Amino acid sequence: MSTVFLNGEFLPADEARIPVNDRGFLFGDGIYEVTPAYRGNLFRFPQHMTRMDRGLGMMRLDYDRSGLEAMHERLLAENGLEDEPTSYIYVQITRGVAPRSHAFPKEPVPPTVYAFANRFQRPTDERWSEGFSAITVPDRRWARVDIKTIALLPNCLAQQAAVDAGVEDAVFVKDGVALEGSHNNLFSVHDGVLVTHPASHEILHGITRGFVIELARGLGIDVEERATPVEEFMRADEVFFTGTTVEVRPTVRVDGQPVGDGRVGPVTRAIHEAFVEATDRVAGATPVSAD
Ligand code: PMP
Repeated sequence: MSTVFLNGEFLPADEARIPVNDRGFLFGDGIYEVTPAYRGNLFRFPQHMTRMDRGLGMMRLDYDRSGLEAMHERLLAENGLEDEPTSYIYVQITRGVAPRSHAFPKEPVPPTVYAFANRFQRPTDERWSEGFSAITVPDRRWARVDIKTIALLPNCLAQQAAVDAGVEDAVFVKDGVALEGSHNNLFSVHDGVLVTHPASHEILHGITRGFVIELARGLGIDVEERATPVEEFMRADEVFFTGTTVEVRPTVRVDGQPVGDGRVGPVTRAIHEAFVEATDRVAGATPVSAD
């Protein structure tokens, strides 16, 4: 039985209870964050918390998150994940419990804070090298997808469409532009240049995305943050997704068409190698949060 965190307490998952009037349950009125840990070392924790602060500000929620780092570390320990090669901590904060009414509660109520930790699995080298497949889907999300809201119905529908199509990922397309995945950011390579959508209101500002841009620049790869029309995207030489639990995931087919020559390309490989090296260094560090 895993141990979870709920409103200041660590308890077995099946004992954690949320009242039906929680605004997260009724309205999706909350945000979340997912931080990876490599052998118990939190990776890019400050960046994840900066994004959480933006989300809290946008939803106009006052919350003192100063205890969250210790909570993350304790959750890893409570769940025996300190030596786990790859794990993550999920935390969500909702506006709390109050009788259902769209406007905020008149009297302030404490936010509901829930967190759990789990392992995630890297694909084997063989599986990774085969590459993965994706479909394109229309983006029917709201206008502020840069906020990491727990209200993810369009993302769930998009991911289910991918599952129904027998592929791993879905690419959101809006106004003819390939934006990002249902739960990952999107990169494509065109004549050696790495292209990804700018960190606007139209994509989530992935922490992995930011790290991969840094890695690519460090490798001397040209990076352009610009919109990619879907026709250009479909002619990319290479495509990959980035995200906390997929890290760098190569895509070799989109909508049944091969990407480039249908094999994982050299830019994707170089970035993936640099990514694995960096996380190996974090995994070997003494267990304090690394950035
Ligand atoms: N885009 C979307 C829509 C996401 O849900 C996520 C992950 N939650 C990402 C991108 C990737 O973000 P990160 O690298 O911070 O995991």
